[in-house]
Amino acid sequence: MINKKIPTPEEIEREIQEFAQQKYGGSVRLINATTVHPTPEPTEEDAPTPKKTFDLKFELKPKEIKQYLDRYVIKQDEAKKALAIAVCDHYNHVRECHENPDTADADYSKQNIVMLGPTGVGKTYLIRHIAKLIGVPFVKADATRFSETGYVGANVDDLIRELVTQAEDNLELAQYGIIYLDEADKIATPPNIMGRDVSGRGVQIGLLKLMEETEVDLRAGHDVASQMRAAMEFQKRGKVEKEVINTRHILFIISGAFTGIENIVKKRMHQSRIGFNADIASRTDDAARYFESVTPKDFIDFGFEPEFIGRLPVHVVCSELTVDDLFYILKHSEGSIIRQYENAFRAYGITVLFAESGLRRIAEKAIEQKTGARALMTVCEKVLRDYKFELPSTGVAEFVVTAGVVDAPEAELNRITEDTEYNRHTVMREQIRRYEAQFYAEHRLQIQFDDEAIALICERAPARAAAENSNLSVVQICDELLESYQHGLNLIKQNTGQSAFTFPKAVVENPDTVLEEWIRDSYTTKR
Ligand code: ADP
Repeated sequence: MINKKIPTPEEIEREIQEFAQQKYGGSVRLINATTVHPTPEPTEEDAPTPKKTFDLKFELKPKEIKQYLDRYVIKQDEAKKALAIAVCDHYNHVRECHENPDTADADYSKQNIVMLGPTGVGKTYLIRHIAKLIGVPFVKADATRFSETGYVGANVDDLIRELVTQAEDNLELAQYGIIYLDEADKIATPPNIMGRDVSGRGVQIGLLKLMEETEVDLRAGHDVASQMRAAMEFQKRGKVEKEVINTRHILFIISGAFTGIENIVKKRMHQSRIGFNADIASRTDDAARYFESVTPKDFIDFGFEPEFIGRLPVHVVCSELTVDDLFYILKHSEGSIIRQYENAFRAYGITVLFAESGLRRIAEKAIEQKTGARALMTVCEKVLRDYKFELPSTGVAEFVVTAGVVDAPEAELNRITEDTEYNRHTVMREQIRRYEAQFYAEHRLQIQFDDEAIALICERAPARAAAENSNLSVVQICDELLESYQHGLNLIKQNTGQSAFTFPKAVVENPDTVLEEWIRDSYTTKR
């Protein structure tokens, strides 16, 4: 076997860049989160009191942002589009203010965002990835953490200080950051509730100030760390410079499930349709559909101050995820938690293979918890905890997460550790399933070995490997068996239109004879 050196991520990136340049000239750009706008590394000259600067060179287009998000976040297409547009508008404006402060539009209203949608469907995940792509700091907090006065709980100004911490004390960079406030629906104060909660209203007003434009003193009275820094600076230099952050360019996103707002929208839509088209509204019974039609007036009826909601012009709706979506997230998204498990087991030299059946069962179990994609982690942890504990101390080098494992983790774990032959067959069966999927991806021909054929391959593989004194893999065996099949099956497809084939045991025993027979038959049943 050729021992090829594995290239570094940077080398791979460079090669892809060169390839794109050759093939498409300058019209195609590759986006990479780490290279778009890296935060400048502090240099030694910055010491002892670093005044870090940041030059925002925002050049992304909405489609590029959406494409980047598509890699990580499944579904939520409308949300991705709306966010991509709002974020581009915002940072284009910021750049304009930065480059041409005299001519930038002073009347521009900031594209602060309200995100509506159930828990665990990707709201935070979207924003986190946007911040990473642009290279700006990101702070997430729960609105319920704040109180009006700051005596109880935290003060909204703390958000700005946290942004500075996230920006590693780069004040300029912090001024372009993103603040994400979850559970914002909890600070709504519905007018019809007796003894209305004044603290929620106070928090809204505090936030309103930040969203508009204000200067926040970074040395908060209750922030011990900043007080200590100030004291040290005073000792060193005999004075303390005032450090403030202007919030004009900070992007604010508030989000929540907003349970109940759909009824407000529903009521309004029904009222406005009375007499002519009432049944259209009643048919759209799904909350997300009502979310799409939410207006500032609905938010006010829900309990937000008009000025507060007036500062949040962009409304973005994220919808509930289905079992198929959860399955897709596990199988295809770049940030899939499956990779974490693969890595965790690899650290002990164990290969874990997630069978499609296993992934689907995980998704089915997760949906029952009603916490969106967040439940995927909970289910996986529950299923695989004992595997992580036990397997590193056994001789098991490979295992498959099948539907059986998800349904009865303990019983399967015992079987895997005690019955070597059973585990070996399960692994091979999974490798054959993957081979079939690969065959389809490459040749658009759907093939499937039946149970007897699989059993025969599993039986033969170790004997072959022993006879040839090699590490013969299932993939190599299948490759050998099906050497002429791509061509042959395509011929049959041309003759009969058939594109799905089940392979019986005979294909493993006499591949060429069977194929010849199938081809001969295809001429007689020709379309
Ligand atoms: P919320 O909508 O409550 O803000 P999050 O964005 O925090 O939920 O989602 C929790 C986790 O679930 C994320 O970190 C991510 O791993 C996963 N996740 C949620 N939605 C999606 C999605 N649409 N696509 C891919 N992963 C998702």
